[in-house]
Formats: sequence, C-alpha cells, structure tokens
Amino acid sequence: MRQKIAAGNWKMNGTAPALTELDALAAGLPATPPLVIVCPPAPLLIPAVDRASGIAIGAQDCHTAPSGAHTGDISAPMIADTGASFVIVGHSERREDHGETDAAVRAKAEAAQAAGLCPIVCIGESLSQRETGETLHVIGAQLAASLPETISAENTVVAYEPIWAIGTGKVPSVAQIAEVHDFIRAELENRYGPDVGAAVSLLYGGSVKPDNAAAIFEVDNVDGALVGGASLKAGDFLPIIAALA
Ligand code: PEP
Repeated sequence: MRQKIAAGNWKMNGTAPALTELDALAAGLPATPPLVIVCPPAPLLIPAVDRASGIAIGAQDCHTAPSGAHTGDISAPMIADTGASFVIVGHSERREDHGETDAAVRAKAEAAQAAGLCPIVCIGESLSQRETGETLHVIGAQLAASLPETISAENTVVAYEPIWAIGTGKVPSVAQIAEVHDFIRAELENRYGPDVGAAVSLLYGGSVKPDNAAAIFEVDNVDGALVGGASLKAGDFLPIIAALA
C-alpha cells in the first residue's frame, strides 16, 4: 500500500502570522489523514516544526553541499537540523529561475537523502513540449537524470508537475495525468525493480483545487498531490486532504 501524501508548497509566501494556518490544518484533519506535509519559506521552518501537530514540515530547496562558501544557500543537514523531514528539489520555478539542471537536481536529492531528508523530486514538461508530443520523452529524460541511483519508498517521492498547469488554473485531463503517471511508474519499476518501483509515491501537481482534487486522486498511480496556491489557506487545503483520505 503506497503512502498517500498531500504536500503544500507555500513558495515565497508567508511570514510568522501565516503559521496560524498550521493550527487550522491540525484542527481540521480527517480522522485517518494521509501524510500531510507543509513546505513553508525557509525562515519559517523552525517555528513551523515547533507548531505543527500531525503535519510534517519540508523545505523548498537545498544546496548540494553540506556546508561551505555558498552565501544565501541552505544545506540539507541544516534543514534536517530544524526538524523538517522533507525537501522539494527540482521545482520548475527553481529550474527556471536558477537554471537548475537535472544533474543539479539529482545532486540535491542525494544530498537530501544523505542528511536523512526525503526529497520530493519534481519533473514536468513545458506547454510547447506537450504540444509537440514530447511529453513522455521529456519526462523519461528528467526521471533518468534527476533521480538518485538508489531510492526507496521511504527516502524519495516523485512529483509530476506539468509546468503549464502550475499556477495557471489549467489542469491536464485525467487521461493525460494517467498516461504520464503510468509511464513514470513503469520507468521506476524498470530502473529500480518491481518492488521499489511499485512502492514509491507519485504526486500530481498543477492547479489542484478543492473542486478537482477528487477526480485527480481517482487516477491510477496518483498517490497524492503537491499543491501550491491552494495550500496557503487551511480552508482550501483541507478539502483536498479530505479527498485523499
Ligand atoms: C506548485 O507550486 O508546485 C504548484 C503545483 O502550484 P499550484 O498548485 O498553485 O499550481
């Protein structure tokens, strides 16, 4: 039975008052919740860990090195030291804004694993790649180059996030989501063997909202969601969590 996960990515949103959303989330969780993860901005990691009840905390990025002359960066051991347990790596906004390559994403995922964190490794095609029929080729290449050589269900989560669906309100059809998630599952099974490949949780991300979450979660090989905008308010995130429970 794969772990169901509802992960919220607050991106560069939120100062201390936003932490009250964690209280509202904790108060509204269903009786048997999926694993709920909130990834706030880095300055909120420590207070979020202190405050969160029944909710795991993750960071949004980490450096590849454990320490060193990298002004402004945060290492995986530093994130682990806050008490956080997850870290998003390879989000398309990082790939675009900071020129992160698949090799860099893989190195970050490896650094996360080495620090005892579970990386949420993001992959996804652009609109032009989708329109020219390259989606599965792009996803296959990103998977091959972004994932560490060794993974397990405990130390890696994969998130499929079509770039054109992030923050746009545009969502792929369930058939399109199914096609990519089935493909990712098959690629994982080929590379890591049937047991590991079948056990790793696959999240869908891109404009998941309370009104479309249930249909997305019915798709085979969708084990949860990475949610941006709709994770900022407990009132939006809770119905998504409930749809997965
Ligand atoms: C994201 O940032 O990973 C994301 C999926 O954003 P949104 O849900 O706002 O599209």
